[in-house]
Amino acid sequence: VDEPNAKPRSLRVVDFTKIHIDKLPTVILIGRPNVGKSALFNRLIRRREALVYNTPNDHVTRDIRDGVAKLGDLRFRVLDSAGLEAEASSGSVLGRTATMTENILERAQFALFMIDARDGLQPMDLDVGKWLRKHAKGLKIIVVMNKAELLDEITGSLASAAGAAYRLGFGDPIALSAETGLGMAVLYSALRPLLEDYALHSITEEEICGTGSSENEDVSSKLPIQLAIVGRPNVGKSTLLNAILQENRVLVGPEAGLTRDSVRVQFQYEGRNIFLVDTAGWLGRTGQEKGPSSLSIMQSRKHLMRAHVVALVLDAEEIASGRRSMKHSEVVIARRAVEEGRGLVVVVNKIDLLKGKRNYESLISAVPEEIQTLIPQVSGIPVVFVSALEGKGRIAVMREVVETYEKWCLRLPTARLNRWLCKVMSRHSWKDNSTQPKIKYFTQVKARPPTFVAFMSGKIQLSDTELRFLTRSIKEDFDLGGIPVRIMQRSLS
Ligand code: GDP
Ligand code: GDP
Repeated sequence: VDEPNAKPRSLRVVDFTKIHIDKLPTVILIGRPNVGKSALFNRLIRRREALVYNTPNDHVTRDIRDGVAKLGDLRFRVLDSAGLEAEASSGSVLGRTATMTENILERAQFALFMIDARDGLQPMDLDVGKWLRKHAKGLKIIVVMNKAELLDEITGSLASAAGAAYRLGFGDPIALSAETGLGMAVLYSALRPLLEDYALHSITEEEICGTGSSENEDVSSKLPIQLAIVGRPNVGKSTLLNAILQENRVLVGPEAGLTRDSVRVQFQYEGRNIFLVDTAGWLGRTGQEKGPSSLSIMQSRKHLMRAHVVALVLDAEEIASGRRSMKHSEVVIARRAVEEGRGLVVVVNKIDLLKGKRNYESLISAVPEEIQTLIPQVSGIPVVFVSALEGKGRIAVMREVVETYEKWCLRLPTARLNRWLCKVMSRHSWKDNSTQPKIKYFTQVKARPPTFVAFMSGKIQLSDTELRFLTRSIKEDFDLGGIPVRIMQRSLS
């Protein structure tokens, strides 16, 4: 597995929108019938007609389709191979179309080897894999687990599918849904470095008109960050938001709220689109909304689920007058955000009111630790001290939000993770050596938030202590403060 950070990246940036069509890198979609190649093809070329067939055997009516794919700012040529169809009658697994596909393989540099994430690995998938290894030597292959919208990490179905897909031997699989569009950002992140590398080596400078922009990030930087600013009434959420908006380009302003849900705010912070969700949380200005009802709105799971990052605003003056950094309701919101897998940033507002106080320093310095104790579910929670009224600290808030979002989107290659694991295991004297658990390999199955699977040999399971140790180590070593990291275990028998 290639490690993207291993070699220094060229500073030349390829503008994929400007490469001549004939020079575009080509990606071929390969897989047994019915895995969703046509569906992905249609999504990539942005065609929504009913080109997807429902039966596995209608490939006779299909040609190899060729189109220009758009994925974020990436442009590439995409070929739908119509499958390496099995010809059961002839007794050979790969038949006529296989030969045809073999010919077009030469036209492509990359292949998306698609499987159906729900079905698990089918014998025909293994045949396709074997066939690819034999015939597609020059091709860079990414395994795509399609129909992933039907799986989830809670039941572990996604993890088992990923484990199976990994064993095809083509590196880290990615999960997506051609039908719903879920995971297209992950596909972008996987393809971008490959296409970029290809373009840098096979396309001359003149063929790329316009270079030099400094964008070298992944698609997560193109998609709006969904931010929820939450907190009890009167802590200063609206004031903080206004301070932030003054500074940045507002794309969609707060519409004077007819109903709470009609309010939408979108703005740009350092070139990134930020979309404010859970506006009900900061709209609580009128008397009636300062009651418990606005609290229940803030707590609502639905709102938190829409956010990537939750900024929880606390009132410094209340902290100074009380004995705890957070009131019970605030702890509830923070914990819920973390349980829902959101990135968390804590904002302590109104520090201007503490300035005169004698014990100012000690008041402030105790807060992060206290917060951490109250929310043990996630470590390294970033805490930002601001005065929204004076406009102080608003930039720090946004910087923390963006940083947290980026960590939330982090993807670590399996090779790097396993090198890390070796170090961690040697660092730790696992509690009971007689049942020293054997993690066969460790892989990230999902980002947003980062979710990992430890594949165990046999029936051995990690103890809670070990699991906590592993989680803590991964957070510390990869700097994932404020991010709910998940580790699951699967046995490899
Ligand atoms: P192909 O034979 O590999 O080209 O597969 P198709 O694109 O024709 O898809 C086969 C079937 O799977 C169709 O019924 C699609 O609607 C369905 N399908 C494709 N992608 C997805 C997906 O992401 N999720 C779900 N649930 N179904 C999908
Ligand atoms: P929300 O209900 O959370 O949206 O809170 P508001 O933004 O409406 O603020 C509630 C009150 O706190 C208002 O009177 C604000 O002027 C005041 N306030 C907000 N931020 C600060 C701050 O940083 N310092 C001080 N001293 N007052 C603030």
